[in-house]
Amino acid sequence: MGALAEGLTRNQALVLDRLVAAGTPLSAYAILDALRPSGLKAPLQVYRALDRLVDRGLVHRLESLNAFIACCHDQHDRTAVFLICQRCGAVDEEDAPTLQGAIADLARASNFAVDSVVLEIKGLCRGCR
Ligand SMILES: [Zn+2]
Ligand SMILES: [Zn+2]
Repeated sequence: MGALAEGLTRNQALVLDRLVAAGTPLSAYAILDALRPSGLKAPLQVYRALDRLVDRGLVHRLESLNAFIACCHDQHDRTAVFLICQRCGAVDEEDAPTLQGAIADLARASNFAVDSVVLEIKGLCRGCR
């Protein structure tokens, strides 16, 4: 993973590397601050790179945290499931094949074409319980 992902622009690779190194969700502004020494100056540069990385499934956007996190899987379809600890902020990405089936059934029943799914589950992690 990381910068080894093929076909990334320099900015995309920088942003992805930063997120992989962080291992936790980062806001676009935190990414921009971290990458200023590497020559990124404008929020738009970061947002463009993030858009593309999200499109490619290398990064997920966590709406509730207004932040981005590197995908920890080599490859998965367009369903990402996150367990988000409300005390320590730990975020865990899970594989959930049974959920994917349930979501596909639900979409089919509604004749709905799913683009992407990001499930954000709030609670307490093992360490905080
Ligand atoms: Zn993922
Ligand atoms: Zn926790």
